[in-house]
Amino acid sequence: MDAMIKVEHLSKKFDDLVVLKDINTTICKGEVISIIGPSGTGKSTFLRCLNLLETPTGGRIVINGEDILSPKADVNAMRQKMGMVFQNFNLFDHLTIMDNLTIGPVKLLGVKKEDAVARGKELLQMVGLAAKANSFPSELSGGQKQRVAIARCLSMNPEIILFDEPTSALDPTMVSEVLGVIKHLAQEGMTMAIVTHEMNFAKDVSSRILYMDEGIIYEDGTPDEIFNHPKKEKTRVFIHRIRNCRYHIEDKDYDFYGMNNVITTFCEKHFFSSNQVQSILLLVEESLQLYFDKDNLEQRNAIIKEGGGIELSIDYSEKEEEIVIYFTVTNNLPSILKTSESSDGLSMTIISGLTSSVEEDDVGDKTRFIMKVKK
Ligand code: ADP
Ligand code: MG
Repeated sequence: MDAMIKVEHLSKKFDDLVVLKDINTTICKGEVISIIGPSGTGKSTFLRCLNLLETPTGGRIVINGEDILSPKADVNAMRQKMGMVFQNFNLFDHLTIMDNLTIGPVKLLGVKKEDAVARGKELLQMVGLAAKANSFPSELSGGQKQRVAIARCLSMNPEIILFDEPTSALDPTMVSEVLGVIKHLAQEGMTMAIVTHEMNFAKDVSSRILYMDEGIIYEDGTPDEIFNHPKKEKTRVFIHRIRNCRYHIEDKDYDFYGMNNVITTFCEKHFFSSNQVQSILLLVEESLQLYFDKDNLEQRNAIIKEGGGIELSIDYSEKEEEIVIYFTVTNNLPSILKTSESSDGLSMTIISGLTSSVEEDDVGDKTRFIMKVKK
C-alpha cells in the first residue's frame, strides 16, 4: 500500500505541557484508522498537527512524499487535501446548506457555481439530506448538521478526512445516522482517521486502531488485536473500561467502617445494585476473617504486618459487567483456601455462595486471592 501520510517523531508542547512525545505512524491510501484513548491524551492535538491547525514542536509529517513542515511547503494546498470534521459541525450559520457546500469549491478551487451546485446536490443526496438544500443550519438537528459538515468536507475532494469525535456532541438518538454516513464512506474506500469513543463503531469500520496514551501511540493493531487481544495493560484497562477501587489494610486493627465507606462510595458511583453492594461488603469481610483467622491470630497478624499488609482491589469492568475482588498479601502467609478447610468453613461457605469463581495465584513474592462476584 502507498504511504499517504508518514509521521515521524512528532512532538507537541504547549508551554511546559508535553502533549505529544514521540508519535510515529504511517497512514496508507484507503485505510480507515480509529484513534482511541483516554481524554486529554492528545488525540485532537495529533489530528490538528496533521493538518497544521497546530504547529508541531518537532518531528516530521510527510504527505505524499512532501514534508509539510518544511518552509517551502504549500500549506494551503496541503490543507485542502485533508478535510476535517469537528465535534461541533462548524457550519456557516448565515449561509444555506447548499451555499455551505459550494462556497469552498467556488472560492478556493475555482469551480464554476453551477458545477459546484450539481456536485452539492449529489453530496446531499448521499448523506440523505437532498430536501434540505435551501434550509439554514439552525433549522437542522445535530445529526443533520453533522451530515452536512461531512458533505461540505467532501465537496473539496479531500484525499483524507480527519474526524474529531464526530458524534460526541450529538443527542444519542442521532449518533447512528452520522456513523452510517462515515461507514458508507469507508466502504467507498475513502481514507479516514477518526478520533472516536464509539468502540463498537471503531471495531466495525476500522482497518487499524491506534490507542493513544502517555503522548505516544501506545499500542497499534487490527480491531481484533486491540479489542480482543490487547498486549499492554493500559490498553486492556481502557478497552474493558475497568474501574478500580483500592484499599490498604495494614493489620488486624484496620478501620472496618472507613474501608466499608470507601467500598460503598465506589459502588454507588458505578450504580451497583444494593444486592451487589451487600455481596461485596460481605465477601470482603469474610475474606478478612480468613486472613485474620482467630486460631492463629497473633502469628498471622505478625506475618501480614511484616509483609506490608493486605491490598484490597475491586475491579469493575463495564464491558463485561464483571466485578472482581482481589486481595494481595505476602506469600509467607499460608494460603487462606487451605486455612478455611481446617477451620469451621463458614466464611468459605458464604464466599462460595456469592461468587462464580474463587482462586489463588502467585505474583512474585505475593499471593493473590481472586473472587469473581456472581452476577
Ligand atoms: P484529547 O483530544 O485526547 O482529549 P487534547 O489533544 O484535546 O486531548 O488535549 C491534550 C492536552 O493538551 C490537554 O491537557 C489539553 O488541556 C492540552 N491542550 C490542548 N490544546 C491546547 C492549547 N491550545 N493550549 C494549551 N493546552 C492545550
Ligand atoms: Mg479531543
